[in-house]
Amino acid sequence: MTATSSIPDDFDDERILAVRRKTADYVRNEALLKGDQWELEGTIPHEDFRRLGDLGLLGLSHPVEYGGADMGPVASVVFAEELGRSTYGGLPEAVLIHTEMSSTHILHRGTPEQKRRYLSAMNRGDMICAVAITEPQAGSDVAALATTARRQGEGWLLNGTKTYVTNALYGDVFIVAARTDPHAKSSRAISLFAVERNTPGLRIRPMPKKHGMLSSDIADLVFEDALLPGNALVGEENKGFYGVMENFQNERLILGAMSLGMGRAALDLTLGWLRSRKAFGGTLWDLQANRHRIAFLSARMKAVETLVYDTARRGARGEECVREVSMIKALAGETLQDVTRACLQLHGGVGYHHGTAIERIGRDAGLMTIGGGATEVMLDEIAKRL
Ligand SMILES: Cc1cc2nc3c(=O)[nH]c(=O)nc-3n(C[C@H](O)[C@H](O)[C@H](O)COP(=O)(O)OP(=O)(O)OC[C@H]3O[C@@H](n4cnc5c(N)ncnc54)[C@H](O)[C@@H]3O)c2cc1C
Repeated sequence: MTATSSIPDDFDDERILAVRRKTADYVRNEALLKGDQWELEGTIPHEDFRRLGDLGLLGLSHPVEYGGADMGPVASVVFAEELGRSTYGGLPEAVLIHTEMSSTHILHRGTPEQKRRYLSAMNRGDMICAVAITEPQAGSDVAALATTARRQGEGWLLNGTKTYVTNALYGDVFIVAARTDPHAKSSRAISLFAVERNTPGLRIRPMPKKHGMLSSDIADLVFEDALLPGNALVGEENKGFYGVMENFQNERLILGAMSLGMGRAALDLTLGWLRSRKAFGGTLWDLQANRHRIAFLSARMKAVETLVYDTARRGARGEECVREVSMIKALAGETLQDVTRACLQLHGGVGYHHGTAIERIGRDAGLMTIGGGATEVMLDEIAKRL
């Protein structure tokens, strides 16, 4: 184990350890070789999703019947942490949105027909999934979303704009939240739909280049009388708001694990750097101020790890953990920001240049206190439950 390494091995059973090993091998032997090219292309190509599918790493918490591994949240957390360590944040972002944040709507709420149509293909990596909740005027305030779906014959007519949709530029199926009751309050007025890429009336509009997470793609989805078949509805009509909130629980746990991996990678890189960089007749590690800074940040990351894994285990037992999941999202994201700020500082000029791993993590880290629930929103959720 390195000074910042992960939970002791005796915590996990053999299958979960195998997920960690396989993911770490994939990162070391494949992702690190391709990451720069992915960042240039602005996407993780389908063939790389397929590779993860071949390795049995997509759908870790999906049933075997649909090509998953039926392992539950601890395996997913391990996968997220190890992908987070890759230093190419767009990789975990794209892959985990696919496996843990969008296809999960079909898994938990889809009809048998939808599961047959989509899940096996998604778990093979043949079909890429995205989730479209955010709108130009409705981000943190999900209840303000204005996209509408109204019945048209057997099907639905969708109108509105979704923004910041990761995996939308090249993805195949989008889980879209839309208002289906114009009169009821939001919690009883929103439904979810599986929208396929070739839907007439759907325009996929590229967005300006992001600050970080450069290897994941992102786009707006513009619906202008987009015609969906009747069987596109995912879950019960007008119950979609609860589906979104429920899905956020897994999403935030997984984002916490991803932040954990990113922070660990930053600390490991910085330890190596401090121990090798010569200055003032010794190394930067010989300076106590630097050792203390890294020691304290490692302790904070350890606290994040404990909360992430403890909550994943509680989730696996079916316990309700909304407060802890909100704590994870807030604590992991903010700790990661503090870690990357210190690690960039300690790298000096090296960290200020494009293309170094530490610079990349520093860029990517910015998203982790915003996406999937901003820190302030998480603190509100915690405060409500104190
Ligand atoms: C790279 C990237 C990828 C994304 N991928 C997806 C995706 O795949 N699908 C999708 O649907 N969305 C996606 N999003 C959207 C993301 O979830 C939203 O950006 C996020 O929910 C915040 O919404 P907003 O950007 O509209 O910020 P706003 O809601 O406008 O909030 C701005 C800021 O105000 C503060 N704030 C917000 N609420 C409160 C509060 N209650 N109290 C105090 N302060 C508050 C926070 O600091 C927050 O960052 C993505 C965003 C980015 C940047």
